[in-house]
Amino acid sequence: MTEGLKQESMTSRIKVLSEETINQIAAGEVIENPASVVKELVENSLDAKAQHISVEVLSGGFQLIRISDDGIGMSQDDAVLSLERHATSKVRKIEDLLSIYSMGFRGEALASIAAISKLTLITCEKETSNHQGVKVVCEGGKIRSVGVFSRQAGTTLEVASLFYTVPARKKFQKSPPQALAEIHKTMLFLALARPDVGFILKSHDDILLEASSGCLEKRIQEVLGQDYFKSVIPIFYEESWIKIEGFIGKPSMARSNKSGQYLFINHRAVVSSGVSFAVSDGYSTMLEARKHPIFVLHLTLNPELLDVNVHPQKKEVRFKDESSMKIAIRKAVNLALQGGEKQSSPVKSSFFEELAPISIGNLFADFEEKKSSKEKTLCSFKAKVPIKEVSVQQDLLPLASLTLPKIDDLEIIGIHGSYLLIEGSLAHKIFQLPSVKAPYEGLLIVDLKACQSRIYFDKAVTRVQESVEMQALLFPITVHVNSAEAYLFEAALPLIYHLGIQMRLFGENTFIIEACIQGLKEEKLKQLLYECLDEMRLGEISEIERKKRLAIKIARNIGMGKVRYNLAESKVILSELLKTEHPYFCPAGKKTIGYMSVEQYDRFFN
Ligand code: ADP
Ligand code: MG
Repeated sequence: MTEGLKQESMTSRIKVLSEETINQIAAGEVIENPASVVKELVENSLDAKAQHISVEVLSGGFQLIRISDDGIGMSQDDAVLSLERHATSKVRKIEDLLSIYSMGFRGEALASIAAISKLTLITCEKETSNHQGVKVVCEGGKIRSVGVFSRQAGTTLEVASLFYTVPARKKFQKSPPQALAEIHKTMLFLALARPDVGFILKSHDDILLEASSGCLEKRIQEVLGQDYFKSVIPIFYEESWIKIEGFIGKPSMARSNKSGQYLFINHRAVVSSGVSFAVSDGYSTMLEARKHPIFVLHLTLNPELLDVNVHPQKKEVRFKDESSMKIAIRKAVNLALQGGEKQSSPVKSSFFEELAPISIGNLFADFEEKKSSKEKTLCSFKAKVPIKEVSVQQDLLPLASLTLPKIDDLEIIGIHGSYLLIEGSLAHKIFQLPSVKAPYEGLLIVDLKACQSRIYFDKAVTRVQESVEMQALLFPITVHVNSAEAYLFEAALPLIYHLGIQMRLFGENTFIIEACIQGLKEEKLKQLLYECLDEMRLGEISEIERKKRLAIKIARNIGMGKVRYNLAESKVILSELLKTEHPYFCPAGKKTIGYMSVEQYDRFFN
């Protein structure tokens, strides 16, 4: 190829993109939809220390998004600069960058939004006298005019005709009502992230969300409603490296999806499947199978302990030390569900003090220092309402401690297989079923096998002092394993014994089972032990956790072999059940007592 040709092909194929195109491409990354504009701009207002933020939208934000704040504002020079790519007041040097990325400062939101809309910026710096502010008008990323404009201290950004320079992307947008719903959801998260700031969201003069500054308790009532608030109890837990606070749902309020979960780390909304999982885990067996607890949870920790995610829209965070996080959260949830007696009290925190101004230069120094700074009540919820009072719920109480059950007073209709049928009308004196209002005008159906699972679990795990009773097998069962498995079994023999299976080493890689708790099907024992091996292989769990998991596995098998129960037996089971910690759920989370209302019979016959 001659010099000339080479030159020609290069100039014709490779072009340096214009600043305009670069910004439009960047916008694709940062600005997914009108809700992402709202998120970026409201976050800017929060960074500017605004106390009140108003958001107005027309046509789901496609026509107009107007955001006004009473923050620190910008000077004329800064206002013009702020619209340039990589213009930011928040990152000064490369060291800031990594940690800052995780908080979403990249200095490209304004430039990106400006590139794909008609943007007007009106701002007035706090220090300026006479409300002498500035107005910058920008179209498709090009500044059209800069002029003087009178305004109170703060900033207003108007974003009109969003996506007008990128029609191809506009086509893939949702409808205005759907876009509005997304904006609403975004605002909900922002409002829950910062209860100390007042927010209002309007669409065509309709107020969709309004919240005045206050504590988290009040904010939840304002934006999630009274029903949500009545379904939660407070949680507070602190270790040297993490603070966990907020509200978690009562077990009976768990949902079939994660829609009621609101998680914030250092006051930014995030998603963490690890945290969700750990919260559920903290409920232990109080949750029904496949249910997800609701919560509004604020975690405060040094951002260096998080894995930095450089994608601006991705909210999934990871902890560098996931297992410590999980242990802390489980403990926090456990304590909260127990009624919080062991929580440090009085519960105070420097929560909202910490978050106020984020001074970037010494962000972490700040973090450390403020942790120990003078304490300020997070919110009156702790002080006003003693934790015990809020969290004493019927569905959490060990019933036996309240009333001595008079099982004989129950009107038992009969036994069908392993189900005991009880007339509902008087039963509320003895049972307090979660999420069913008494009196029960219908039929209670008791799953006796599930009850036995719960009773076993309680004896084996919760009330360790009461060991489970075993009976000798008529014909001991031999179990052969490989040498790695033999090693695991041998180490776990005391644990297995405690859980109700007596086994001993019998030659190389061979064990024999000599006795087990009543109710386990002998033919299934071998299989059950192999299943237990899987749990023993799990390295990263605590001993008590391992014990629980094994107990759940064993509990599932209880009553398997049994076909018929008699009345006397059933009564003993019921009274034992009422002594357990969570009588209404089996360890696997299934109901122990079901309820069928008269309306349900009616529907059945129609
Ligand atoms: P970033 O937030 O990542 O710094 P942006 O493009 O979102 O980048 O904003 C650029 C800069 O504009 C910010 O660093 C800040 O100095 C200024 N700015 C943006 N919005 C506001 C506002 N509402 N009040 C005061 N300053 C603002
Ligand atoms: Mg920003």
